[in-house]
Amino acid sequence: MTKTIIENGSIIDGTGSEPIQGIVVTDGDKIAYVGDASGYTKSGDETVIDAAGKTVLPGFIDTHIHMMFEYAPLEKRLTTPFSYMYYQAMKYMKATLDAGVTSVRDALGTDLGVKRAIDDGLINGPRVQLSINALTITGGHGDGMQINGDVLDISPSGYRGMPNGIADGVDEVRKKTREMLRAGAEVIKVHATGGVMSPTDHPEFTQYSFEELSAIVEEARFRKGVKVMAHAQGAEGIKNAVRAGVHSIEHGIYIDEEAIELMKEHGTYLVPTLLAPVSVLETADEVGMPQSAVEKAKEVIEAHKESFARAYKAGVKIAMGTDAGVFKHGTNLRELGLMVDDGMTPMDAIVASTKVAAECMGWEDKVGTLEEGKLADVVIVDGNPLEDVYVLADQGNIRVVIKGGQFVKQL
Ligand SMILES: [Zn+2]
Repeated sequence: MTKTIIENGSIIDGTGSEPIQGIVVTDGDKIAYVGDASGYTKSGDETVIDAAGKTVLPGFIDTHIHMMFEYAPLEKRLTTPFSYMYYQAMKYMKATLDAGVTSVRDALGTDLGVKRAIDDGLINGPRVQLSINALTITGGHGDGMQINGDVLDISPSGYRGMPNGIADGVDEVRKKTREMLRAGAEVIKVHATGGVMSPTDHPEFTQYSFEELSAIVEEARFRKGVKVMAHAQGAEGIKNAVRAGVHSIEHGIYIDEEAIELMKEHGTYLVPTLLAPVSVLETADEVGMPQSAVEKAKEVIEAHKESFARAYKAGVKIAMGTDAGVFKHGTNLRELGLMVDDGMTPMDAIVASTKVAAECMGWEDKVGTLEEGKLADVVIVDGNPLEDVYVLADQGNIRVVIKGGQFVKQL
Protein backbone atom coordinates (compact mmCIF):
# COMPACT_ATOMS: atom_id res chain seq x y z
CA MET A 1 0.00 0.00 0.00
CA THR A 2 1.03 3.58 -0.46
CA LYS A 3 3.24 5.52 1.88
CA THR A 4 3.03 9.26 2.40
CA ILE A 5 5.58 11.56 4.02
CA ILE A 6 4.35 14.90 5.30
CA GLU A 7 7.39 17.11 5.84
CA ASN A 8 8.35 20.63 6.94
CA GLY A 9 5.15 21.19 8.91
CA SER A 10 4.57 22.08 12.52
CA ILE A 11 3.11 18.95 14.11
CA ILE A 12 0.48 19.12 16.86
CA ASP A 13 -0.01 15.47 17.77
CA GLY A 14 -3.22 15.84 19.80
CA THR A 15 -1.73 14.65 23.08
CA GLY A 16 -1.32 18.19 24.39
CA SER A 17 2.48 18.18 23.84
CA GLU A 18 4.09 21.28 22.38
CA PRO A 19 4.26 21.34 18.57
CA ILE A 20 7.36 19.84 16.93
CA GLN A 21 9.00 20.40 13.56
CA GLY A 22 9.29 17.01 11.94
CA ILE A 23 7.64 14.51 9.66
CA VAL A 24 4.59 12.28 9.72
CA VAL A 25 4.75 9.07 7.69
CA THR A 26 1.68 7.02 6.84
CA ASP A 27 1.89 3.47 5.55
CA GLY A 28 -1.34 1.95 4.27
CA ASP A 29 -4.09 2.89 6.70
CA LYS A 30 -1.75 3.44 9.68
CA ILE A 31 0.67 6.02 10.98
CA ALA A 32 4.17 4.58 10.61
CA TYR A 33 6.32 7.36 12.06
CA VAL A 34 6.05 10.74 13.79
CA GLY A 35 9.16 12.70 14.74
CA ASP A 36 12.40 14.20 13.59
CA ALA A 37 13.13 13.72 9.88
CA SER A 38 16.53 12.27 10.76
CA GLY A 39 14.84 9.31 12.45
CA TYR A 40 13.27 7.95 9.26
CA THR A 41 15.00 6.55 6.18
CA LYS A 42 13.10 7.25 2.96
CA SER A 43 12.55 4.31 0.64
CA GLY A 44 11.94 6.56 -2.34
CA ASP A 45 8.46 5.29 -3.22
CA GLU A 46 6.62 7.58 -0.81
CA THR A 47 4.29 10.36 -1.85
CA VAL A 48 5.82 13.53 -0.39
CA ILE A 49 3.66 16.39 0.87
CA ASP A 50 5.36 19.69 1.68
CA ALA A 51 3.62 21.24 4.69
CA ALA A 52 5.94 24.24 5.09
CA GLY A 53 4.12 27.08 6.85
CA LYS A 54 1.30 24.71 7.74
CA THR A 55 0.20 22.74 10.78
CA VAL A 56 -0.25 18.98 10.80
CA LEU A 57 -2.90 17.61 13.18
CA PRO A 58 -4.85 14.42 13.84
CA GLY A 59 -8.19 14.11 12.05
CA PHE A 60 -10.74 15.99 14.17
CA ILE A 61 -13.57 14.22 15.99
CA ASP A 62 -17.07 15.61 16.46
CA THR A 63 -18.79 13.65 19.24
CA HIS A 64 -22.24 15.11 18.62
CA ILE A 65 -23.48 15.28 15.07
CA HIS A 66 -26.60 14.32 13.09
CA MET A 67 -25.23 13.00 9.83
CA MET A 68 -28.55 12.33 8.10
CA PHE A 69 -30.22 15.69 8.29
CA GLU A 70 -29.77 19.41 8.09
CA TYR A 71 -32.52 21.60 9.46
CA ALA A 72 -34.67 22.87 6.61
CA PRO A 73 -37.92 24.84 6.25
CA LEU A 74 -41.02 22.78 6.98
CA GLU A 75 -42.32 22.96 3.42
CA LYS A 76 -39.07 21.60 2.11
CA ARG A 77 -39.12 18.73 4.60
CA LEU A 78 -42.69 17.84 3.64
CA THR A 79 -41.86 17.77 -0.08
CA THR A 80 -38.64 15.75 0.10
CA PRO A 81 -39.04 12.06 -0.87
CA PHE A 82 -37.96 9.66 1.87
CA SER A 83 -35.02 8.04 0.08
CA TYR A 84 -33.67 11.42 -1.05
CA MET A 85 -32.32 11.98 2.46
CA TYR A 86 -29.71 9.28 1.91
CA TYR A 87 -28.32 11.04 -1.16
CA GLN A 88 -28.47 14.37 0.60
CA ALA A 89 -26.49 12.90 3.48
CA MET A 90 -23.63 12.18 1.08
CA LYS A 91 -23.26 15.94 0.70
CA TYR A 92 -23.27 16.42 4.48
CA MET A 93 -20.63 13.74 4.91
CA LYS A 94 -18.41 15.33 2.28
CA ALA A 95 -18.79 18.72 3.98
CA THR A 96 -17.78 17.10 7.28
CA LEU A 97 -14.66 15.50 5.81
CA ASP A 98 -13.79 18.75 4.01
CA ALA A 99 -13.91 20.50 7.38
CA GLY A 100 -11.23 18.15 8.69
CA VAL A 101 -13.54 15.93 10.75
CA THR A 102 -12.71 12.26 10.16
CA SER A 103 -14.65 10.61 13.01
CA VAL A 104 -18.09 11.37 14.43
CA ARG A 105 -20.47 10.11 17.04
CA ASP A 106 -23.93 10.29 15.54
CA ALA A 107 -26.39 11.55 18.15
CA LEU A 108 -29.51 10.21 16.38
CA GLY A 109 -30.88 9.82 12.91
CA THR A 110 -28.32 7.68 11.09
CA ASP A 111 -28.93 3.98 10.47
CA LEU A 112 -26.67 1.00 10.10
CA GLY A 113 -26.79 0.97 6.30
CA VAL A 114 -25.12 4.37 6.14
CA LYS A 115 -22.29 3.28 8.40
CA ARG A 116 -21.80 0.09 6.45
CA ALA A 117 -21.75 1.95 3.13
CA ILE A 118 -18.97 4.19 4.49
CA ASP A 119 -16.99 1.29 5.93
CA ASP A 120 -17.29 -0.68 2.67
CA GLY A 121 -16.14 2.34 0.64
CA LEU A 122 -19.41 2.71 -1.29
CA ILE A 123 -19.66 6.33 -0.17
CA ASN A 124 -17.24 8.82 1.40
CA GLY A 125 -17.83 9.77 4.98
CA PRO A 126 -16.26 10.04 8.40
CA ARG A 127 -15.96 7.01 10.67
CA VAL A 128 -19.30 6.85 12.48
CA GLN A 129 -20.28 5.61 15.91
CA LEU A 130 -24.03 5.09 15.80
CA SER A 131 -26.73 5.75 18.37
CA ILE A 132 -29.53 5.04 15.82
CA ASN A 133 -32.32 6.99 17.59
CA ALA A 134 -32.68 8.70 20.98
CA LEU A 135 -34.91 7.40 23.75
CA THR A 136 -37.42 10.04 24.74
CA ILE A 137 -40.48 10.36 26.98
CA THR A 138 -43.96 10.94 25.57
CA GLY A 139 -44.22 14.68 25.03
CA GLY A 140 -40.50 15.07 25.57
CA HIS A 141 -37.64 16.52 23.57
CA GLY A 142 -37.68 13.77 20.93
CA ASP A 143 -41.45 13.43 20.53
CA GLY A 144 -42.31 14.96 17.17
CA MET A 145 -46.04 15.30 17.86
CA GLN A 146 -47.04 18.93 17.44
CA ILE A 147 -49.72 20.88 19.28
CA ASN A 148 -52.27 20.05 16.54
CA GLY A 149 -51.55 16.33 16.77
CA ASP A 150 -49.52 15.96 13.58
CA VAL A 151 -46.17 14.24 13.93
CA LEU A 152 -43.32 16.24 12.42
CA ASP A 153 -40.10 14.56 13.48
CA ILE A 154 -36.96 16.57 12.79
CA SER A 155 -35.69 13.36 11.27
CA PRO A 156 -38.02 10.52 10.28
CA SER A 157 -38.23 7.47 12.50
CA GLY A 158 -40.31 4.37 12.94
CA TYR A 159 -39.11 2.74 9.72
CA ARG A 160 -36.87 -0.30 9.31
CA GLY A 161 -33.49 0.36 10.86
CA MET A 162 -34.67 3.44 12.77
CA PRO A 163 -37.00 2.53 15.66
CA ASN A 164 -39.14 5.30 17.09
CA GLY A 165 -37.56 6.41 20.37
CA ILE A 166 -40.61 7.04 22.57
CA ALA A 167 -40.55 4.96 25.77
CA ASP A 168 -41.93 5.62 29.27
CA GLY A 169 -41.20 3.76 32.48
CA VAL A 170 -38.47 1.31 33.42
CA ASP A 171 -39.82 -1.65 31.44
CA GLU A 172 -40.33 0.32 28.24
CA VAL A 173 -36.93 2.02 28.32
CA ARG A 174 -35.25 -1.33 28.84
CA LYS A 175 -37.02 -2.75 25.80
CA LYS A 176 -36.35 0.38 23.75
CA THR A 177 -32.64 0.21 24.58
CA ARG A 178 -32.64 -3.38 23.31
CA GLU A 179 -34.38 -2.27 20.11
CA MET A 180 -31.72 0.36 19.47
CA LEU A 181 -28.97 -2.17 20.10
CA ARG A 182 -30.68 -4.61 17.73
CA ALA A 183 -30.76 -1.88 15.07
CA GLY A 184 -26.99 -1.39 15.40
CA ALA A 185 -26.53 1.21 18.16
CA GLU A 186 -22.96 1.36 19.45
CA VAL A 187 -23.86 4.03 22.00
CA ILE A 188 -27.29 4.72 23.50
CA LYS A 189 -28.67 8.24 23.23
CA VAL A 190 -31.28 9.45 25.67
CA HIS A 191 -33.09 12.74 26.14
CA ALA A 192 -32.89 13.34 29.90
CA THR A 193 -34.38 16.84 29.75
CA GLY A 194 -36.32 19.13 27.47
CA GLY A 195 -34.61 21.14 24.77
CA VAL A 196 -34.51 24.13 22.49
CA MET A 197 -36.01 22.56 19.36
CA SER A 198 -38.98 20.73 20.85
CA PRO A 199 -42.36 22.49 20.69
CA THR A 200 -43.92 21.62 24.05
CA ASP A 201 -41.10 21.55 26.58
CA HIS A 202 -38.25 23.60 27.98
CA PRO A 203 -34.52 22.89 28.43
CA GLU A 204 -34.96 22.95 32.21
CA PHE A 205 -37.69 20.30 32.28
CA THR A 206 -36.53 17.06 33.84
CA GLN A 207 -37.78 14.19 31.67
CA TYR A 208 -36.46 10.70 32.40
CA SER A 209 -36.30 9.79 36.09
CA PHE A 210 -33.19 8.47 37.82
CA GLU A 211 -34.76 4.98 37.81
CA GLU A 212 -35.41 5.04 34.07
CA LEU A 213 -31.91 6.38 33.32
CA SER A 214 -30.35 3.73 35.57
CA ALA A 215 -32.22 0.96 33.70
CA ILE A 216 -30.97 2.32 30.36
CA VAL A 217 -27.38 2.53 31.62
CA GLU A 218 -27.57 -1.01 33.01
CA GLU A 219 -29.07 -2.46 29.84
CA ALA A 220 -26.36 -0.83 27.72
CA ARG A 221 -23.61 -1.95 30.09
CA PHE A 222 -24.73 -5.58 29.72
CA ARG A 223 -23.61 -5.40 26.07
CA LYS A 224 -19.85 -5.28 26.43
CA GLY A 225 -20.02 -1.94 28.21
CA VAL A 226 -21.99 0.12 25.67
CA LYS A 227 -22.05 3.72 26.91
CA VAL A 228 -24.95 6.15 27.24
CA MET A 229 -24.93 9.77 26.04
CA ALA A 230 -27.59 12.02 27.52
CA HIS A 231 -29.03 15.19 26.06
CA ALA A 232 -29.23 17.02 29.41
CA GLN A 233 -29.73 20.77 29.79
CA GLY A 234 -31.45 21.48 33.12
CA ALA A 235 -29.50 20.99 36.35
CA GLU A 236 -31.74 18.30 37.86
CA GLY A 237 -31.76 16.25 34.65
CA ILE A 238 -27.98 16.57 34.35
CA LYS A 239 -27.51 15.29 37.90
CA ASN A 240 -29.98 12.43 37.44
CA ALA A 241 -28.04 11.35 34.37
CA VAL A 242 -24.62 11.61 36.03
CA ARG A 243 -25.79 9.71 39.11
CA ALA A 244 -27.30 7.00 36.90
CA GLY A 245 -23.89 6.47 35.29
CA VAL A 246 -24.37 8.18 31.94
CA HIS A 247 -21.04 8.52 30.10
CA SER A 248 -21.46 11.98 28.57
CA ILE A 249 -23.66 15.01 29.15
CA GLU A 250 -24.66 16.65 25.88
CA HIS A 251 -25.16 20.44 25.86
CA GLY A 252 -25.11 20.83 29.67
CA ILE A 253 -26.65 24.28 29.59
CA TYR A 254 -27.46 24.69 33.28
CA ILE A 255 -24.59 22.94 35.06
CA ASP A 256 -24.46 23.95 38.72
CA GLU A 257 -21.66 23.44 41.24
CA GLU A 258 -23.10 20.15 42.48
CA ALA A 259 -23.30 18.84 38.91
CA ILE A 260 -19.66 19.79 38.35
CA GLU A 261 -18.58 17.88 41.45
CA LEU A 262 -20.65 14.85 40.44
CA MET A 263 -19.23 14.88 36.91
CA LYS A 264 -15.68 14.97 38.27
CA GLU A 265 -16.43 12.19 40.74
CA HIS A 266 -18.01 9.94 38.06
CA GLY A 267 -15.57 10.88 35.27
CA THR A 268 -18.48 12.07 33.11
CA TYR A 269 -17.66 13.89 29.88
CA LEU A 270 -19.22 17.18 28.89
CA VAL A 271 -19.97 17.66 25.20
CA PRO A 272 -20.80 21.38 25.13
CA THR A 273 -22.14 22.01 21.55
CA LEU A 274 -21.67 25.78 22.00
CA LEU A 275 -22.21 26.20 18.28
CA ALA A 276 -25.78 24.90 18.43
CA PRO A 277 -27.68 27.88 19.91
CA VAL A 278 -25.35 30.33 18.12
CA SER A 279 -26.13 28.73 14.75
CA VAL A 280 -29.84 28.36 15.50
CA LEU A 281 -30.02 32.13 15.96
CA GLU A 282 -27.86 32.94 12.93
CA THR A 283 -29.85 30.80 10.52
CA ALA A 284 -33.33 31.07 12.07
CA ASP A 285 -34.87 33.02 9.18
CA GLU A 286 -33.12 31.10 6.41
CA VAL A 287 -34.25 27.68 7.62
CA GLY A 288 -37.63 28.65 9.05
CA MET A 289 -36.77 27.85 12.66
CA PRO A 290 -39.92 27.85 14.85
CA GLN A 291 -40.26 30.96 17.01
CA SER A 292 -40.27 28.81 20.18
CA ALA A 293 -36.79 27.49 19.31
CA VAL A 294 -35.48 30.99 18.59
CA GLU A 295 -36.81 32.28 21.92
CA LYS A 296 -35.30 29.38 23.84
CA ALA A 297 -31.93 29.66 22.06
CA LYS A 298 -31.77 33.34 23.06
CA GLU A 299 -32.74 32.47 26.60
CA VAL A 300 -30.08 29.79 27.12
CA ILE A 301 -27.07 31.18 25.30
CA GLU A 302 -25.43 33.05 28.20
CA ALA A 303 -26.06 30.32 30.78
CA HIS A 304 -24.59 27.81 28.33
CA LYS A 305 -21.35 29.78 27.97
CA GLU A 306 -21.06 30.23 31.74
CA SER A 307 -21.67 26.53 32.43
CA PHE A 308 -18.99 25.57 29.93
CA ALA A 309 -16.49 28.04 31.39
CA ARG A 310 -17.09 26.84 34.96
CA ALA A 311 -16.90 23.16 34.03
CA TYR A 312 -13.64 23.75 32.14
CA LYS A 313 -12.06 25.67 35.02
CA ALA A 314 -13.11 22.97 37.47
CA GLY A 315 -11.45 20.26 35.38
CA VAL A 316 -14.48 18.40 33.97
CA LYS A 317 -13.46 16.27 30.95
CA ILE A 318 -14.59 18.06 27.79
CA ALA A 319 -15.03 16.40 24.39
CA MET A 320 -15.77 18.54 21.36
CA GLY A 321 -19.21 18.15 19.84
CA THR A 322 -21.31 20.54 17.82
CA ASP A 323 -24.85 19.32 17.02
CA ALA A 324 -24.13 19.79 13.30
CA GLY A 325 -27.30 18.86 11.44
CA VAL A 326 -29.37 21.16 13.60
CA PHE A 327 -27.37 23.65 11.47
CA LYS A 328 -25.12 23.43 8.43
CA HIS A 329 -22.69 20.54 8.17
CA GLY A 330 -19.05 21.46 7.61
CA THR A 331 -18.92 24.36 10.05
CA ASN A 332 -17.89 22.01 12.89
CA LEU A 333 -14.52 23.49 13.79
CA ARG A 334 -16.01 26.88 14.65
CA GLU A 335 -16.75 25.10 17.93
CA LEU A 336 -13.07 25.35 18.90
CA GLY A 337 -13.21 29.12 18.43
CA LEU A 338 -16.25 29.36 20.68
CA MET A 339 -14.57 27.23 23.33
CA VAL A 340 -11.52 29.50 23.23
CA ASP A 341 -13.75 32.61 23.38
CA ASP A 342 -15.16 31.19 26.61
CA GLY A 343 -11.80 30.68 28.26
CA MET A 344 -10.28 27.44 26.98
CA THR A 345 -6.70 27.52 25.71
CA PRO A 346 -6.28 26.78 21.99
CA MET A 347 -4.23 23.68 22.83
CA ASP A 348 -6.93 22.36 25.18
CA ALA A 349 -9.56 23.00 22.50
CA ILE A 350 -7.50 20.94 20.04
CA VAL A 351 -7.02 18.13 22.59
CA ALA A 352 -10.78 18.18 23.35
CA SER A 353 -11.38 17.71 19.61
CA THR A 354 -8.87 14.90 19.14
CA LYS A 355 -7.52 12.85 22.06
CA VAL A 356 -10.33 13.47 24.57
CA ALA A 357 -13.03 13.09 21.92
CA ALA A 358 -11.53 9.70 20.98
CA GLU A 359 -11.53 8.69 24.65
CA CYS A 360 -15.16 9.76 25.00
CA MET A 361 -16.05 7.41 22.14
CA GLY A 362 -13.85 4.59 23.45
CA TRP A 363 -11.81 4.82 20.25
CA GLU A 364 -8.56 6.03 21.84
CA ASP A 365 -6.68 2.95 20.63
CA LYS A 366 -7.26 3.79 16.98
CA VAL A 367 -7.79 7.52 16.46
CA GLY A 368 -7.36 10.92 18.14
CA THR A 369 -3.59 11.41 18.14
CA LEU A 370 -0.71 11.26 15.70
CA GLU A 371 1.09 8.24 17.10
CA GLU A 372 2.66 5.23 15.47
CA GLY A 373 0.22 2.39 14.94
CA LYS A 374 -2.92 4.50 15.01
CA LEU A 375 -5.12 4.93 11.96
CA ALA A 376 -3.72 7.49 9.53
CA ASP A 377 -6.30 10.26 10.00
CA VAL A 378 -4.36 13.45 9.36
CA VAL A 379 -5.29 17.06 8.62
CA ILE A 380 -2.97 19.75 7.21
CA VAL A 381 -4.04 23.31 7.90
CA ASP A 382 -2.80 26.70 6.70
CA GLY A 383 -1.51 28.83 9.55
CA ASN A 384 -1.10 28.19 13.25
CA PRO A 385 -4.25 27.36 15.25
CA LEU A 386 -2.38 27.97 18.50
CA GLU A 387 -2.05 31.64 17.51
CA ASP A 388 -5.52 31.92 16.00
CA VAL A 389 -7.79 28.93 16.57
CA TYR A 390 -10.32 30.37 14.11
CA VAL A 391 -8.05 29.37 11.19
CA LEU A 392 -9.63 25.94 11.66
CA ALA A 393 -13.14 27.31 11.15
CA ASP A 394 -12.44 28.33 7.54
CA GLN A 395 -12.68 25.29 5.25
CA GLY A 396 -10.36 27.03 2.78
CA ASN A 397 -7.55 26.66 5.31
CA ILE A 398 -8.07 22.90 5.61
CA ARG A 399 -5.69 21.93 2.79
CA VAL A 400 -5.37 18.19 3.13
CA VAL A 401 -7.55 15.60 4.86
CA ILE A 402 -6.40 12.00 5.07
CA LYS A 403 -8.69 9.29 6.46
CA GLY A 404 -7.21 5.86 7.03
CA GLY A 405 -4.31 6.69 4.71
CA GLN A 406 -6.60 7.81 1.86
CA PHE A 407 -6.64 11.39 0.66
CA VAL A 408 -10.24 12.58 1.00
CA LYS A 409 -9.40 16.25 0.43
CA GLN A 410 -6.44 17.94 -1.22
CA LEU A 411 -6.54 21.60 -2.21
ZN1 LIG B 1 -28.20 16.86 18.88
